[in-house]
Amino acid sequence: MHYPTRFSCVGCGACCKGRFIPLTLGETKQWLERGDDVAVLLEAFSRPYWAASEQEYQHSLQRSAQVSCGATQVHVTAIFAAHALTQCPNLQRDDLCGIYENRPLVCRIYPMEINPFIELEPLAKDCPPEAWEPNTIIISDASADPTLSSLIQASRRADRNDARLKLSICNQMGINVAAWKAEAFVIHFPARDQFLQAVNDQASSFQDDQSDLGGWTLRVAGADLSNELKNGKLALDETENPSYIFHALR
Ligand code: SF4
Ligand code: SF4
Repeated sequence: MHYPTRFSCVGCGACCKGRFIPLTLGETKQWLERGDDVAVLLEAFSRPYWAASEQEYQHSLQRSAQVSCGATQVHVTAIFAAHALTQCPNLQRDDLCGIYENRPLVCRIYPMEINPFIELEPLAKDCPPEAWEPNTIIISDASADPTLSSLIQASRRADRNDARLKLSICNQMGINVAAWKAEAFVIHFPARDQFLQAVNDQASSFQDDQSDLGGWTLRVAGADLSNELKNGKLALDETENPSYIFHALR
């Protein structure tokens, strides 16, 4: 990565297609109220099996909540993400955003990275070469410009503040299976009305330390990992026709 990094959006719309768009809880409510679908991506991890750095563990910990799993506990992170696998429902025919003034934080932040352990790599982004030609400086000396930096901080803050409430919403919807972090995501597609009801119910009744987050199970693919987690007294979901998609990452 070379500093300074220059970028200016050319409005091509490429980043609005073929992906999930992570939303804050507030944005999730707005998205559902507009009549568009939101998926739930889930991953779990646990201290005894953590292989990355301590700093990354602390970062993940803040975005997760501890739940029961088998005879022990795991940390689960829920990502509520707009369904834009073909394209975002707000993308107009002219490739511009139809909710520009109200677009989600991640859309304001792209192509910057929100995860502090992932470095911005222009070639890995959807933006065409002309967007990276001398324009506005978005990073100098490894620091994002102040406006972007405050948006990134707001996104991280929302992830931390909503971590438990999001799992409480999942629990109300009967969603209680997560993948193992770095191996896969489990992706649930709740019905829009059910999802909005759970968001509204939990927003009004949630009590941080008292709300029930339910008992969780884990979906894993590898036989070694499966045996390791079972030996650790974690519960696995081994149903043949799961109500979710298992999206492997490796
Ligand atoms: S909300 Fe707007 S900027 Fe964000 S993905 Fe959809 S069309 Fe693109
Ligand atoms: S892919 Fe990059 S250049 Fe194209 S609209 Fe998205 S942010 Fe702008």
